[in-house]
Amino acid sequence: MDLLRFYKSCILCPRNCGVSRSRGDGKTQPGFCGEWDQVRVAYVGPHFGEEPPITGKDGSGTVFFAGCTLRCSFCQNYQISRGGLGMRTSLGELVEGVLKMVKRYHVHNINLVTPDHFFPHVFRLVSMLRKKGLNLPMVYNLSGYQSVEMLKLAEEHSDIYLPDYKYSDSPLAASLSRCPDYPKVALGAIAEMIRQKGFLDSCLTGSELARKGVLVRHLILPGNIDNSINALTGLFVEFGRGLPLSLMSQYHPVLHQEDEALNRSLAEEEFTRVYTHARELGFEHLFIQFPEKTPKDGQGASPFLPDFRQAEPFR
Ligand code: SF4
Repeated sequence: MDLLRFYKSCILCPRNCGVSRSRGDGKTQPGFCGEWDQVRVAYVGPHFGEEPPITGKDGSGTVFFAGCTLRCSFCQNYQISRGGLGMRTSLGELVEGVLKMVKRYHVHNINLVTPDHFFPHVFRLVSMLRKKGLNLPMVYNLSGYQSVEMLKLAEEHSDIYLPDYKYSDSPLAASLSRCPDYPKVALGAIAEMIRQKGFLDSCLTGSELARKGVLVRHLILPGNIDNSINALTGLFVEFGRGLPLSLMSQYHPVLHQEDEALNRSLAEEEFTRVYTHARELGFEHLFIQFPEKTPKDGQGASPFLPDFRQAEPFR
């Protein structure tokens, strides 16, 4: 199947813009994601901020794609998701870059961050890497806003899914990411990911590194704790206590927000409410990012906050 045809009337994500992103078409325009049919990448390199079974001791081999289908108003990676940072890259160059990273850093997996608006190229990238003999797990680091149809196409090109479940609250999803259907779409997408890969295997086997499966992430938003409480309850009801779940407290305000609460970091008592709820529900495989007691820079920014203008975006 020629997957590049998806760029001609783009339905690569549930926004279903239907625009032609193909440069040669004459009537081209980027869709909501802001990207054309040429891959743009902001960073290829090892990253040590993922959960332990993904990071391991040598890091996860990340490829950060530019653009995004969600474009959340508070995006922690706003420089590349909404700000235009990133370089056009051919697939050949990207293959070389990934292989160089693997050789130099011995990363444990290839971590494709926000790849869905470039799925046709990403599937090719994975095929090319495998043809070169690379047998590391392919991690799809996703917003959760994916269609089941596209995930079915991703099945043979993926090993691990790291989807977010950002919102249980539809009006909040509408106001921060302009997708009121997020809660329903994301639960359907996560169900499909679990159907394909099951829960993260390392949680079941106790091995140090994951090779297959699904781990769901939830970023707690300041002032929106009910959204988090209900998100956890929804995940528990849909997938049970065996679902591997990562609770993230790293939120840091990067762009001014209309919702005043989002112009500050997460308060410790807010984190405690959500954490306590997760424990009460009885999730068996929780990965917890406790709020940092001592921020690493003068502005109180989280060390997880990247700066993609730097050669090494992660401090
Ligand atoms: S990938 Fe981009 S252009 Fe395509 S449907 Fe999604 S937002 Fe629209």
